[in-house]
Amino acid sequence: MNSLGLYIHIPYCLHKCGYCDFNSHKINTEEMDSYVKALLKEMAHYAQGPAGDRQIATIFLGGGTPTTLPADQLEEILKTISDRFNVSADCEITSEANPATVSLEPLQRMRTAGYNRISIGVQSFHEPELKLLDRIHSEEEIHMTVEKAREAGFDNLSLDLMFALPGQTMASWEDNLAQALAKDPEHLSTYNLTIEPETAFHTLEAKGKLTLPPDDFQLEFYKKSIQTITEAGYQHYEISNFCQPGKECRHNLIYWHNGDSLGLGAGASSFLDGSRFKNCNLPSRYIREIETQGTAVEFSEQLEPSQAMGETLMLGLRLREGMAIKPFEERFQTSFHKTYDHTISSLAEKNLITLDKNRIVLSPEGLFLADSVILEFMV
Ligand code: SF4
Repeated sequence: MNSLGLYIHIPYCLHKCGYCDFNSHKINTEEMDSYVKALLKEMAHYAQGPAGDRQIATIFLGGGTPTTLPADQLEEILKTISDRFNVSADCEITSEANPATVSLEPLQRMRTAGYNRISIGVQSFHEPELKLLDRIHSEEEIHMTVEKAREAGFDNLSLDLMFALPGQTMASWEDNLAQALAKDPEHLSTYNLTIEPETAFHTLEAKGKLTLPPDDFQLEFYKKSIQTITEAGYQHYEISNFCQPGKECRHNLIYWHNGDSLGLGAGASSFLDGSRFKNCNLPSRYIREIETQGTAVEFSEQLEPSQAMGETLMLGLRLREGMAIKPFEERFQTSFHKTYDHTISSLAEKNLITLDKNRIVLSPEGLFLADSVILEFMV
């Protein structure tokens, strides 16, 4: 049976961080109750329809901050998924969590309910950097959250860190990496801070009150991350992601292989049977539309083969193992080499990709220019 990844968006946070351009909104208890009811109703719609006969290989609660919901709602969400869908016996079930939103008892209840992976938004172990990032939690709360997650029985734990912060020194970044590695996480994600339109940081940058380090310095931070984390025994399996052997995020691997996924909740996107669709962003509108229509899709399109090929390549190249050519050719019934002949030759000449008859992979040089290399296949 053709499996898929199920994503559930919980769009609430204790506070909106200055750099955040995710679909996240300040907590509102009354709305959150209606939101969970709407989610359960949306599940029923898809379980009776296009996803009903598919096996769920992974479940991922992201946000926002899923752990702003009380444990009984997190339990109810998972129970309803299990009741409605065909969930695989070894399903990876992740919830994102932010420090300052979870204590031991809800973590234990989540673990008992079946959540088996937790992804904690650390961002930095340094108090001044947390303040600069406009994060609401303290360094102490990070240590406590990781400790409680372990105590609750989470043996698959991921930490997120952010680098290239304004004024950040390499020594500070090295210390952040060392502190993260000291927690022995099964998975580690490191992202550079970017300034996105319509965020508070964008306004600050426009006023000259916030400046990111120059690109070459950002590259040094990235190289330091790869060196330090791989020397600690982790596999660098995706541009920004590292794991202990066998602990890749299986849910994200579905995305990177451009596999099928169903997204439920405000602003969630889906890719199912060649069709892409997305729900409306605003939680109150999402609730209203689910209540009246059962769905809240505001956009859908059937991908042209050329679009689907470009996206498969774009996502596959993010993986350090690159993209396998034979499955690509079987999926799209085309010759990879003939389709991308010109782009391949030009990138190979510049040593930005390596290619054999089985795989196309970003070279170490290409890795540092990944965004622009990948774009070459999209034009
Ligand atoms: S916790 Fe995450 S999702 Fe929520 S506002 Fe901050 S960055 Fe955005």
